[in-house]
Amino acid sequence: MIEFSDELDFENRIVDTTEIPEDSGENENPLRPKTLDDYIGQENVKENLRIFIDAAKQRGESLDHVLLYGPPGLGKTTLSGIIANELGVSVRITSGPAIEKPGDLASLLTNLNQGDVLFIDEIHRLSRAVEEILYPSMEDFAIDIITGKGQMATSYHLPLPKFTLVGATTRAGQLTAPLRDRFGVVLRLELYTTEELAQIVERSASILSIEIEHEGAVEIASRSRGTPRIANRFLKRVRDFAQVMSDGVITLETAKIALEKLGVDELGLDNNDRRMLEAIVKFYNGGPVGLETLAAAIGEEAVTIEDVYEPYLMQIGFLSRTPRGRCITAKACEHLKMDFPGADNSQPTLFNN
Ligand code: ADP
Repeated sequence: MIEFSDELDFENRIVDTTEIPEDSGENENPLRPKTLDDYIGQENVKENLRIFIDAAKQRGESLDHVLLYGPPGLGKTTLSGIIANELGVSVRITSGPAIEKPGDLASLLTNLNQGDVLFIDEIHRLSRAVEEILYPSMEDFAIDIITGKGQMATSYHLPLPKFTLVGATTRAGQLTAPLRDRFGVVLRLELYTTEELAQIVERSASILSIEIEHEGAVEIASRSRGTPRIANRFLKRVRDFAQVMSDGVITLETAKIALEKLGVDELGLDNNDRRMLEAIVKFYNGGPVGLETLAAAIGEEAVTIEDVYEPYLMQIGFLSRTPRGRCITAKACEHLKMDFPGADNSQPTLFNN
């Protein structure tokens, strides 16, 4: 592992996209929109969902199973609540790793009411044994349960209420084909634009009774890596600075100062992003470097690099993925004020001799 002069703080990254208690509040996150109209951005996803929800309601049927995929913090859990709300049913929220045994899933399913939504986050992390009983539940709305062992074993065929499974994953590629095929609706969530995030920040500010000027909201939005969860987190932290530094109103100036103090630059990069990018230049000559090698070099897990660092860095054109590994781009080097070792990782072209 490469030693860096100062400690890497992976535990407390303010730009971390995974949910921490601060994000969710006491019982329910008051910032979560409850209806499709309140849900900002993701126009394509919303348009599709609106049609499917209306059609299901008109037919008086349950909605087809929905798979949502995209990086963490983009609003997948929120959407599952909205789907249930729009359908006028309840939602049960759980996650792949939380369903340890087939019996856990059976008890979740048998406690649902007709039409209810079951949300399974990180659905790619379900165990094989659990997946096996999920298939017939999704398809035939029934499960077969075996109790007892050997000659005493008895099998029960248990009908289930018609429910809608909403699965969420950061990596659709890791789902087994039979599971993926059982979702009638597959929707991909994209990183948000700065304008959309600014709207989200302004909406959250009004819910939390925080005074914010439009330029302040845009500044927070432009540093939020396309992710509402980060935008909302920044808003709360910047509010603290605004309260202490001035009259509590978030202006362009207070947002800038606060985010700089939090170690987030004007593009939303923090020290960890910068050091990962610098490591690619310094130790791997700009790349290509394999994911595992890079992960070991900076002491981070490969999945975190893939799910948390990369989507945004690739979106802003700082990192490219090639079959041989990750490469830094000239644009990233310019931002980091480093020389671009471009000649070494350029692809051979027809004109190379
Ligand atoms: P995920 O399940 O994809 O990790 P969440 O649904 O938990 O993400 O969303 C994170 C936070 O971001 C939520 O608490 C919510 O307040 C906010 N959020 C997400 N998407 C939107 C949106 N489209 N409009 C407004 N707020 C949003």
